[in-house]
Amino acid sequence: MKPHDRLTDHVRIDSVHLKALQRLSIITIADLLYYLPARYENISDIQSVGGLEKGQEAVVYGQLSGLKTRKAWKSKKPIAEGYVEDGSAKIKIMWFNQPYLAKMYTDGTYVKLAGKVAGSEGKLYLSNPEIELLDSLPIDRHDSIFAGTAAQDDTLYPVYRETKGITSRWLYHSVLKLFEKGILETLIDPIPSTILKKYHLPELSTALIWAHAPKKAKDAEAARKRFAFEEVFYIQIQKAQERAAVSAAQTYTINTEPRHLNAFTTRFPFALTAAQDNAINTILTDFSGTHAMSRLLEGDVGSGKTAVAATTAYAVITSRPPEGVGKKIEYGNLQVAYMAPTEILAKQHFESFIEYFHHLPISIGLITGSGCMKFPSKSDPTKPTKISKAQLLKWVKNGEVPVLIGTHALIYKSVEFKHLAYVIIDEQHRFGTNQRKRLAKKDARMPHLLSMTATPIPRTLALTIYGDLDISLLDQMPAGRKPIKTTIVGPTQTKAMYDHIESELATGRQAYVICPRIAEPDPTKENALNMKSVIAEAKRLKSDIFPSWNITALHGKMNPTEKDKIMKQFAGHKIDILVATSVVEVGVNVPNATNIIIEGAERFGLAQLHQLRGRVVRGTHQAYCFAVTESKSDKTRDRLKALATAKNGFELAEHDLQFRGSGELYGGKQSGLSDLGMDAIRNLKLVEAARTEAKHLVASHPDLARSFPLIAENVTRIGDALHME
Ligand code: ADP
Ligand code: MG
Repeated sequence: MKPHDRLTDHVRIDSVHLKALQRLSIITIADLLYYLPARYENISDIQSVGGLEKGQEAVVYGQLSGLKTRKAWKSKKPIAEGYVEDGSAKIKIMWFNQPYLAKMYTDGTYVKLAGKVAGSEGKLYLSNPEIELLDSLPIDRHDSIFAGTAAQDDTLYPVYRETKGITSRWLYHSVLKLFEKGILETLIDPIPSTILKKYHLPELSTALIWAHAPKKAKDAEAARKRFAFEEVFYIQIQKAQERAAVSAAQTYTINTEPRHLNAFTTRFPFALTAAQDNAINTILTDFSGTHAMSRLLEGDVGSGKTAVAATTAYAVITSRPPEGVGKKIEYGNLQVAYMAPTEILAKQHFESFIEYFHHLPISIGLITGSGCMKFPSKSDPTKPTKISKAQLLKWVKNGEVPVLIGTHALIYKSVEFKHLAYVIIDEQHRFGTNQRKRLAKKDARMPHLLSMTATPIPRTLALTIYGDLDISLLDQMPAGRKPIKTTIVGPTQTKAMYDHIESELATGRQAYVICPRIAEPDPTKENALNMKSVIAEAKRLKSDIFPSWNITALHGKMNPTEKDKIMKQFAGHKIDILVATSVVEVGVNVPNATNIIIEGAERFGLAQLHQLRGRVVRGTHQAYCFAVTESKSDKTRDRLKALATAKNGFELAEHDLQFRGSGELYGGKQSGLSDLGMDAIRNLKLVEAARTEAKHLVASHPDLARSFPLIAENVTRIGDALHME
């Protein structure tokens, strides 16, 4: 028996379980071993029904039966009742004043009940117990392989993430079977023992026992830590390898004197913030080195990333060959590619760049799925003009177009540059080294890379999923921006909010209304569901709240042309209120839209709320955000209040990490990290340790695949699972 053998070669599995396992992507023995419990239940305080005594606070596990509602004999108040049975005995349950409970559950359901034992000897019952639904009953403690040795301590049982046709119990017993058959003796730990010792992590076979059948909570914790370390370690190795590949390639060394940039930056209608200045100087330093830059620029919406991109692009396209110092500047020698996530944004960047660069004798190209443009036009040098793709690509290839802006169309095979020195990526999280190499194409030199994002993610997550990049923060907003006024709106306070919006609309402003995305297990149905909710909300607002204003819904089922049309109408103030879901890309700058209502705010992370409200901060008018929540819980209200006080998105992202499950972190789910990996990023020390060791290993073993084949294999596997490209 070997870890890579198919499970079915060694264990008899019926077709129902086989299908379920496939759904969980468990094919091999290793897949099952690495399918770790999601959590553990403590069963030390479980009582058996047979042993219950009057007055006890009891926790029992069992199956429901005989559920019904009746009226109390004297008071005539409704009572829900039933029985719970756990194999040892059966006891009555009574819920007073909660008759609906009997209707909510069905006979035969597995439950955990916690409540007081009342009644009299022989007629005991559980009074108003709290009820929790279970997919299966706890694993009996005597099932454990530790049974008999330390039964006293053996109080944890693993709870796996289940799917139809498979239970925690089944998974647990199958793992134990593999243990009994001696699988642990065949395993080789991929992680060098020096690393394990250094960080006090258990070695593989111990960790597997501790994860699946822990004696103590501490052991389970240590096992989880080891596997979390392992996952982050592999990711960091992959990142370190990418980094090494970039460093090994030749690049364009660009030396720019800051003085030279003044001519460009003084033309901005504003003074750069200190944060922008810093970022620009850091990038210029990177440019002047011999390795290609790999940098992530993180900054809230409106923090001015475009100005940083434009200034550094200027440095590249006006860079002089060393012998040309003092001579006339040679434009168009080096090229810049600027990629945006949508056509609308690409067009917006194209227009900004024309504004910034029109005084220079250079051309700027735009390439998107729906066509190409070039500035300046031959007939009117103050305007851009439409041109054919073939023509544009020809000019890009021979170097006559030094700046090419576009969507994904930029990285099509047909696009070739003459000397691509600098790639700027806006909000494109999944831009990997291979895409970068592909862009460089025949040109052997690796372009410098600046990846820009407004996604506020905590430092540990950034270090992990952007581990191959250096990070610059724009943690400062341009001066004179009025901070957005944020109000948390409870169920009884919507009238004041709508009154406020009404008065804003009356003074000529516009508003966004964001409906929460409705998650749906079947992603193909999700758009339809969300379309319904958005359309319904738009209808409700029109008929009940804002009858005299133009209200339009924007949703994911629309094609890009339709969306574009609606966005244009909104930008042109043909629409007063735009109703959309959080997933619909509303990346366009509409300065007059200064109000945003976010429905179901408690369902979002703070960082995501922050990003949503970022749509309204760009104008000169005072902007308002209303975070509407149905929740009456103080905890929820308190959490949302941080929105009003935090200085920037990063602060809120750290808040999310502290106060919410890390699984709900913005930008985390999309990155493809496992639950365990997401857990790991709550632990800065662990992430830093994995990063240090990974860097060290890659630097000291350029032939990793030969010296550590198991690690190399796992790195490839993890890399495939992560959505990095
Ligand atoms: P983002 O970081 O979201 O991409 P932009 O680059 O689009 O932000 O900038 C938002 C707005 O702020 C633009 O209108 C831009 O001209 C303006 N801006 C950028 N930097 C400054 C600054 N230092 N002072 C004032 N306004 C600025
Ligand atoms: Mg931007």
